[in-house]
Amino acid sequence: MPVYAGIEAGGTKFVCAIGTGPDELRAEVRFATGAPEETIGRAVAFIRDQVAEAGETLAAVGIASFGPIDPDPRSSSYGYVTTTPKPGWAHTDLAGAVRRALDVPVGFDTDVNAAALGEHRWGAAQGLDTFIYLTVGTGLGGGGMVNGELIHGMMHPEMGHIRVPHDWAVDPYPGCCTYHGDCLEGLSAGPAIAGRWGQPGEELPPDHRAWPLEARYLALGLVNFVCTLSPQRIIMGGGVMERDFLFPMIRRELQALLNGYIATSQILHDIDGYIVPPALGSRAGVLGAIALAERAAQRGQ
Ligand code: ZN
Repeated sequence: MPVYAGIEAGGTKFVCAIGTGPDELRAEVRFATGAPEETIGRAVAFIRDQVAEAGETLAAVGIASFGPIDPDPRSSSYGYVTTTPKPGWAHTDLAGAVRRALDVPVGFDTDVNAAALGEHRWGAAQGLDTFIYLTVGTGLGGGGMVNGELIHGMMHPEMGHIRVPHDWAVDPYPGCCTYHGDCLEGLSAGPAIAGRWGQPGEELPPDHRAWPLEARYLALGLVNFVCTLSPQRIIMGGGVMERDFLFPMIRRELQALLNGYIATSQILHDIDGYIVPPALGSRAGVLGAIALAERAAQRGQ
């Protein structure tokens, strides 16, 4: 049995694991994201030690990275974290450093595309070929598949930065995206909730008026994704979505906004099965990285 390593490379923490899937994840470590060289070194050392200890052979590594990244194998900066504002990390050759250190195929993608792949392999998107995965937490990110392939194109989707209607009379909060102010992320990710209401979302009660507004913004975002990508399912994870009373609110808002125009059975009759939490829960990220590794081994990347 080949063994894979997964690295969930987040802006605040790295999670590394060894295994082959949800039922066989046998070692896991997490540590704060420091300077690139030191942090990548820790991940590589963990993988090397674990594999050596078990007397196994490493088949591939998958990296689910914070971004923006360059996921295009034809590009000279393939495998890089590119223009991130995170100090020290702009233009870092993350995948290349891991490949040089461990000398195995390395799968590399965004954290959200990786999580989407993990959900497709083992979770809430099994059997689908077109779906999206959104995470709503300290930022808002989106990835997914179209026709069975992870979405890339020019770069990768940046679904959090679409524009949505902002009624300033109802919501005078200006938004907190450094680049756009009131884009979807700037209006609805965790820092926007905290900035608008003066306390973090975790502390706001379910009947707070923050939540109908939050559901409204997220549903406005979903309308755009439904109308452009026609996903067969929408998976929503991340810290904000742990307030699970948001799910029925978002489902109702989406139906109301679509207003009967997209009259599929999913939207009209199975909205509860259409907008769902990740089946892999908080392990979606690291399992996504394992799924990237598995795919890299199969493709010999
Ligand atoms: Zn933005």
